[in-house]
Amino acid sequence: MKEPRDYSYKFTAIPSPGELVVPVPPLVFRPAWEVVMIKGRELMGGAFCVDVDSLTDGDLMHVVLPPGFYGREFLQLDAGNVNQLHEFQEQYGRIVGARKNVPVAHDMMTRLRPEPDNEAFSGDLGRIFEDQLRGINKSGAFCDVHEIEGSVDSANYMTAASLQEVAHTVMDAQWIILATTKLLMPGPVSREEKIDAIIACTFMSNIISKACSPISLVLHDIDYETPRYDLMTAVYIQLSRALLHNEEYRYCKNPECNRLFTPKEFTRMNFNSKEVTRRSDSQYCQSSCQERAKYLRNYTPNRKNHAIT
Ligand SMILES: [Zn+2]
Repeated sequence: MKEPRDYSYKFTAIPSPGELVVPVPPLVFRPAWEVVMIKGRELMGGAFCVDVDSLTDGDLMHVVLPPGFYGREFLQLDAGNVNQLHEFQEQYGRIVGARKNVPVAHDMMTRLRPEPDNEAFSGDLGRIFEDQLRGINKSGAFCDVHEIEGSVDSANYMTAASLQEVAHTVMDAQWIILATTKLLMPGPVSREEKIDAIIACTFMSNIISKACSPISLVLHDIDYETPRYDLMTAVYIQLSRALLHNEEYRYCKNPECNRLFTPKEFTRMNFNSKEVTRRSDSQYCQSSCQERAKYLRNYTPNRKNHAIT
C-alpha cells in the first residue's frame, strides 16, 4: 500500500567535495574451470587480478569519475557479463567490496571475505571467523586451481577478486542506488520501499565513514593531494552527495529503456550577461533514446489512428 511521502536524507559526515579521483591499475582476468551462477546465468568462474608485473612505481593511471557516474555508467553495467566487467574496470578502476558487509543478507555483518586491510580475522566472534573463512575458500577456489598450475604468483594471489565477488559488489551497489533514489522520485512510496532505503543508507554509511574522516585539518600553506578513493567508495560518495543535494532524477521515457538518469546541467549567459545553470528538460537519458522513442511512436503497427483510417 502506498503512503504519502514524508522523508528527508541527513548525513552526519559529509564526504569532502570536489573531483573523485580513482586509481586504475592494469587488470588481468584469470579464468577457472568452475561454473558460477550470476544473475541467473551460468558463467565460467575466475578472478580479476592486478597485473603486478606491469605495475611500476609512480605511473599508476587515474581517472576522474564523470558527473552522475553512479546513475549512468555504473547503473548500466551488466554484472552478469564478464567481458563488460573487465572493460569497465579497465576504464574506471577495480571493483572490490562484496567482501565487506552484505546489504540484503539477514545479518548485516555477514562477510564474504576479509578486507585487504588488517581486519582479517579480527572478529572476536567465532561466527564471523567462519563466515570469513567460508568466503575466502569460495573466492580463493580459483587461486587454488592456478597455484597448482603455477601461473599465479603470490602478489597476484593477494589481489585476486573472484568473478562472483565483483558481480555481487556491482549488484549490491546498483540495488543501493535504486533503493535510495526511489524516494526522490515523484509519487507515493510504499513501506517496503522506505525500509529498503533505510537498509541501503546504513550500508552506504558504513563504507563512507571508513573512507572519509568526519574531521580533517586544512592548512592553507600546504598543498594537499586530491584524495583518491577506490571505485566503489567513489560511487557511494557521489551517490550520497546527490542524495544530500536532492539531485533530480528521471526515468527515461523510451519504453525500451526506462533507465534512471540525472538530467545534464548546462551553463549559459542570461540577458544580463550572467552565467546561469539550467537543468536539461530532456525526458530521455541519451539522444539515441529520444530518436528510438520517436521511431516507436511513428512506426508502431496497430496504432489506433491507423486502425481508424
Ligand atoms: Zn534511455
